[in-house]
Amino acid sequence: MTIQMPRLNMAAGPVQVMPRTLRDQARPILYHYDPAFIDLFARVSDQLQQVFRTRYDVVIMQGEAILGLEAAAASLISPGDKVLNLVSGVFGKWFEDFIRKYGGETVELAVPYNEAIDPEDVRKTLAANPDIRFLSVVHSETPSGTHNPVREIGRIAREFGVITLVDTVSGLGGELLSPEAWGMDVAVAGPQKCLGGTPGLSLMAISPEAWQVMEAKRPAPLRGSFLSILDWKTAWLEERRFPYTPSVSEIYALESVLAQALETGMERFVDRHQTIAAACRAGVKALGLELWAAREEIAASCATAIRTPPGVDDEALRGIMRRRYGVMISPGYGELKGQLFRLGHMGPAQAHPTALAAQLAILERALADLDYPVQLGAGVGAAMAALADWDDEATA
Ligand SMILES: *Cc1c(COP(=O)(O)O)cnc(C)c1O
Repeated sequence: MTIQMPRLNMAAGPVQVMPRTLRDQARPILYHYDPAFIDLFARVSDQLQQVFRTRYDVVIMQGEAILGLEAAAASLISPGDKVLNLVSGVFGKWFEDFIRKYGGETVELAVPYNEAIDPEDVRKTLAANPDIRFLSVVHSETPSGTHNPVREIGRIAREFGVITLVDTVSGLGGELLSPEAWGMDVAVAGPQKCLGGTPGLSLMAISPEAWQVMEAKRPAPLRGSFLSILDWKTAWLEERRFPYTPSVSEIYALESVLAQALETGMERFVDRHQTIAAACRAGVKALGLELWAAREEIAASCATAIRTPPGVDDEALRGIMRRRYGVMISPGYGELKGQLFRLGHMGPAQAHPTALAAQLAILERALADLDYPVQLGAGVGAAMAALADWDDEATA
């Protein structure tokens, strides 16, 4: 028996995409040296700079965001380099593997996975370890629905002359960032999170200092590799050619989602995510459920993580939501498995009152099916009460 498609994909990425994105993605495949494709790639790069709100070079690597993260480690870290790795969740911890693989030495600053990094601790650690060259941090820890104060952390890194590698895969579009103002040297984002696009690309902004470090990597700069960011600099940025064939259809989809974000305007785009996230938290609390994030100020705008209530099996809960009512949500991931589940609100299709109402209503229904005491409508009501200022027609 074929398993039916869900009615709503409310997962924490890849997310449901807008019909317009799917339509634009379905255009005929172009030869990558067709002038129309060169023109498209240049336009998409321009749009990406606007979405990142940066004058730094942007690079679009042709693989899901993990490629960009590994490429950053592989292209920057020389054997023996000390890297301060900030760990507030699963992805932060995971980055240590890349640091080790490329010969770096990790200094870890960790907090519990429902907390955020305190910038003052970063300052103390950098002051105590003057030989640290790099700092790696996850902006928005999607698995625990929390975010780190990257703006403050980045500024401190700048003061110490430390190069930053920032995983903002689910942060871009969820907070109004700027690599220059936030001290991000290599920022890696993904189209399939808050931008509401399709998975398959790494979106990167690279500071001039980061380029210098890549050129000076020991024993030699990383070139001639799928992981090489410098290959993209030489090929695309300097010579308007490609190191290899780009994923043509993914570039179509990216152009579409970036255009949609810019039509909305980045400030409003981000504000919509933050508004829906706040409404979601209001709904969750009205249901008597507990937010995973230790404090609301550190709750992410990409997804809301909810502590699995006592007596409820999270797999059963998500299973009912998916099988009986067609709503797919994400579980806890890695060490967080079973401890929490997540409601998604990333991208124009998810970060919207319709999707929020539907997933909260179905969450309530599924909790009731499990004989968990909920008042049907309480969560949806509180969430809708928080959305009085919403207006689809308002644009930049
Ligand atoms: C989605 C995501 C990534 C990419 O990881 P996948 O699991 O391959 O999608 C990396 N970092 C963060 C914070 C993410 O949310």
